[in-house]
Amino acid sequence: MRVAVTGGGGFLGSHLCEALLRRGDAVVCLDNFATGKPENIAHLCEFHAFEFILADVSEAVQVHGPLDAVAHLASPASPPDYLRQPLQTLAVGSRGSENMLRLAEQNNARFLLASTSEVYGDPLVHPQDEEYWGNVNPVGPRSVYDEAKRYAEAVTMAYHRSRGVDVGIVRIFNTYGPRMRPHDGRVVSSFITQALSGEPLTIYGDGKQTRSFCYVDDLIRGIVAMLDSSVTGPVNLGNPEERTVLELAELVLELTGSTSDIHYHPLPTDDPTRRRPVITRAAELLGWDPEVDVRQGLRRTVDWFGSRPQDIALAAAA
Ligand code: NAD
Ligand code: UDP
Repeated sequence: MRVAVTGGGGFLGSHLCEALLRRGDAVVCLDNFATGKPENIAHLCEFHAFEFILADVSEAVQVHGPLDAVAHLASPASPPDYLRQPLQTLAVGSRGSENMLRLAEQNNARFLLASTSEVYGDPLVHPQDEEYWGNVNPVGPRSVYDEAKRYAEAVTMAYHRSRGVDVGIVRIFNTYGPRMRPHDGRVVSSFITQALSGEPLTIYGDGKQTRSFCYVDDLIRGIVAMLDSSVTGPVNLGNPEERTVLELAELVLELTGSTSDIHYHPLPTDDPTRRRPVITRAAELLGWDPEVDVRQGLRRTVDWFGSRPQDIALAAAA
């Protein structure tokens, strides 16, 4: 297969490019490095089948040569990133998704949308299966991300229904692992970098809100299975092992052996109180199940961050 991966210079996108290249696919990576980094993909240049295009996919983009699939992952994903880039986030979810759907249509290629558990907003149903329509505040600060992804799902289904494009939608739940930016503001990267540098861990709210954390290798296996299938979805991809944010902080302190304090800060507006995926659909349709438990995945992630003290120090100084 020859696959275009938008957002391929980011955390998940770079792992997806790598997984596809390693199994013999050709990859065209498109990224504008709004939140990604060239270092994430520098090692992929050794693959002859890897091509990089510096491009904002919200604008007109040309990809030469035939494509079998377009995986649309481009979008700021960490709350501080999308709150800092609200219009760009809306643009890449709307115009960017439309541009990439057209690219898929022109190539008769499969289109995969990286959607998010955020389409469920602050869920009134727990755990969340794909039938739940969500509880999103359309005018709150997080709406730039949530509504962009909801629109992206809608336009994906419209291209499927009205123009026959082969599409697949995955709703990704909180995923963590190597290549997260140390100071991207997400909870796992924040707690690990804080613990490793002896700074206080910053808990927002009382720490009783929950998330379900999926290790990146599991998630990428699910995305590849979805790409290879003809399933339209949406399909939840995530690890149903649910933890409170306070439990996560305690686990990070244990795994790092850090003596950092815990400091409490105000909860951001509209921060969801709980989140856990039902993954029966992924199991039945894709034969997918996460294999790495949180303790194991965090250990690997801590080791990865620990091997890059200079990155943590540099990012802290910036
Ligand atoms: P990330 O910020 O590391 O990666 C996003 C990439 O998209 C970056 O490399 C960025 O530079 C690129 N990008 C952003 N706007 C662009 C544009 N207009 N044109 C070209 N490139 C652009 O984030 P991530 O965690 O790797 O997330 C990847 C995708 O997965 C996103 O669509 C996100 O919404 C989705 N997702 C991620 C998670 C998670 O827990 N990591 C959860 C749910 C959904
Ligand atoms: N969070 C926290 N401290 C931090 C960063 C995040 O307590 O330094 C909380 C945040 O308020 C949310 C949870 O951790 O309740 C997950 O946040 P993240 O930004 O990683 O993901 P999302 O909110 O998008 O699920």
